[in-house]
Amino acid sequence: MLIIFSRQRSEENNSVDIQQLAEHFRSAAVSIPFIYDLPPTGKTVTSLRERTSDTEKPVLFFSSLPVRAAGALLTTLKISVDFCFDVTGKTTAAVITEIEAALRAERKNIPLENNSSVENLTEPVSERWYPVVYRSECSGCLECVNFCLFGVYAIGGDNLPFVDLPDNCRNGCPACSRICPQGVIMFPLHSDDSISGRSPKQKAEVSGGLDKLTDLIDEMA
Ligand code: SF4
Ligand code: SF4
Repeated sequence: MLIIFSRQRSEENNSVDIQQLAEHFRSAAVSIPFIYDLPPTGKTVTSLRERTSDTEKPVLFFSSLPVRAAGALLTTLKISVDFCFDVTGKTTAAVITEIEAALRAERKNIPLENNSSVENLTEPVSERWYPVVYRSECSGCLECVNFCLFGVYAIGGDNLPFVDLPDNCRNGCPACSRICPQGVIMFPLHSDDSISGRSPKQKAEVSGGLDKLTDLIDEMA
């Protein structure tokens, strides 16, 4: 499998050792800058798109973002992953336990490969603040488009809004998240769980889920 690990903004907040993770699962891993801050046309996002678009290996994504927000952001960036993990406040051992528990629940074995290399991708980034939209649950009411005074949203060919000018968003303001009737606009770094996408009421899913991962493990067994 391929492990993608989004480092936190501040290095001292990184509580998970990606090298240990790669060695434990004998999988190649890529360490990237904090994904929320990455420019969508930058070299890191472009590289991840290419690496994930044609691989048959399951791709596991780790970040400190709520899973629902991470999934929506990855979809927006056209980075294809099979499973997202939120490592916030977790140790390496706890993350390994979480993955193994998920596999045990499916009665699967852990895949063993011979590549546990970790590639460190770097790119200059600055701290950003913008909404992430879970478009698959958007009703298309366009209240967000009409509400935002700063032209952050535009309407796509599917008649649903998309975040067109993210960096026009006012830093720290989550206003449109509060007016969205579907609750699908998230600000992943907001302290309110219902705005960040971390609320237990919000579904935490990424399409494909564990199925592809466990199918492959079956094949390797
Ligand atoms: S307010 Fe929410 S549901 Fe309505 S269009 Fe915007 S994102 Fe979609
Ligand atoms: S928080 Fe405010 S500025 Fe940012 S997208 Fe929403 S309405 Fe626009």
